[in-house]
Amino acid sequence: MRHHIVAGNWKMNKNAEQTEDLLNALIDQLPQDKAVEIIVAPTFINLASAVDHLEYTNISVAAQNMHEAESGAFTGEISADMLKSIGVNTVILGHSERRTIFHETDAIIAAKVDKALQHQMRVIFCFGEELKDRKDDQHFNVVENQLRDGLFHLDKTAWESIVLAYEPVWAIGTGETASPEQAQEMHQFIRETIRKAYGSDIAEAVSILYGGSVKPDNAAEIFSKPDVDGGLIGGAALKAEDFAAIVNAI
Ligand code: PEP
Repeated sequence: MRHHIVAGNWKMNKNAEQTEDLLNALIDQLPQDKAVEIIVAPTFINLASAVDHLEYTNISVAAQNMHEAESGAFTGEISADMLKSIGVNTVILGHSERRTIFHETDAIIAAKVDKALQHQMRVIFCFGEELKDRKDDQHFNVVENQLRDGLFHLDKTAWESIVLAYEPVWAIGTGETASPEQAQEMHQFIRETIRKAYGSDIAEAVSILYGGSVKPDNAAEIFSKPDVDGGLIGGAALKAEDFAAIVNAI
């Protein structure tokens, strides 16, 4: 059901000790009483300890990625079953760094989505256009194609387990953020695209997060837009006070 979510993607940052320190700081500083779901995504190696650490808190844990196969000869990879076995029930898929640096195609991401759903996991599905797409006025087409190729094979019931994260690639880690109006325009388009494919019930029920250089000083304005249901936060998720300020901006 549509609700406010703030998720922190820690990427390849924080060793075991630093993870524990940041989790402790988050437990101290994050609000307990806000109607917002709070998620952190540390690296694979620290997921199990994070799940333990956060057991009696209002913060849950997501993985940053997983493999699309059930198991087998995939050296260095992690499966949905492994994540579930340590209590991780949410996975981020299709992040732009996975798409560009690790060459994940829409077909691979769609297979990952299917595997995650087979294991009753929730998916935070990331997508968004590159700068050249926006300059060429192709951003709506690119976003629509990513949605269609990654998710539109799903049946209606599967959408209960999908959270969308619109992340324009040109705004990720660059300090340049989409304006609140640009974010709202795209989020509205995304909801409309889902409405056309699946109907109003699904379109109104899906949470759509914005990601791309969200910081304490721009979060409130972005989150105030009617189709923005929260944020996927990279750099600012690595400092407890910044992440807490962003959560408080909801
Ligand atoms: C991200 O990587 O998902 C992200 C939004 O990063 P940043 O907030 O650093 O732009």
